Amino acid sequence: MIQMAVLKGDITKLEVDAIVNAANTSLLGGGGVDGAIHRAAGPELLPECRKLNGCETGQAKATRGYKLAASYVIHTAGPVWKGGNSGEPELLAACYRNSLKEAERLGLGSVAFPCISTGVYGYPSDKAAKIAVETVKASGASVESVVFCCFSDKDYDIYKSLL
Ligand code: ADP
Repeated sequence: MIQMAVLKGDITKLEVDAIVNAANTSLLGGGGVDGAIHRAAGPELLPECRKLNGCETGQAKATRGYKLAASYVIHTAGPVWKGGNSGEPELLAACYRNSLKEAERLGLGSVAFPCISTGVYGYPSDKAAKIAVETVKASGASVESVVFCCFSDKDYDIYKSLL
């Protein structure tokens, strides 16, 4: 069983094996948590991302972590919220599942997730958190621990109530 925990703060500071990046499909950097991760990892991250040739929504691809405490960054492209009837729940679940698969492939023990799609992409926080927790729980991945790293008090409270 995967141990799950929630904490509030900046995901770029976490000492885990991998942090997950809520990237976009280009993997060439953006705002929000993506921008923060690229700033903290340093300029070597972008050229490695460029070599990955993008990432489809719901998929996940790993790079090294460079200046981060985390050894790896697992980049996943979350769905843009369009009202909920455009496959958003399945795509968001796929982000969590495929990120864990990537962590498993790399033999990693601990992974931290941001609240994927809940920023600029507009996914409602409560719905997204439920999918995150349920998908990790059901994943059966060999990863030992997952941390949900919340940036807002609201997200923190939602995850606390779910775990
Ligand atoms: P998306 O485009 O997937 O919505 P965003 O980066 O806009 O991605 O937002 C995703 C989540 O990441 C939001 O809940 C936002 O508050 C959070 N976030 C932004 N910066 C950080 C950070 N440094 N550490 C952890 N979470 C962050």
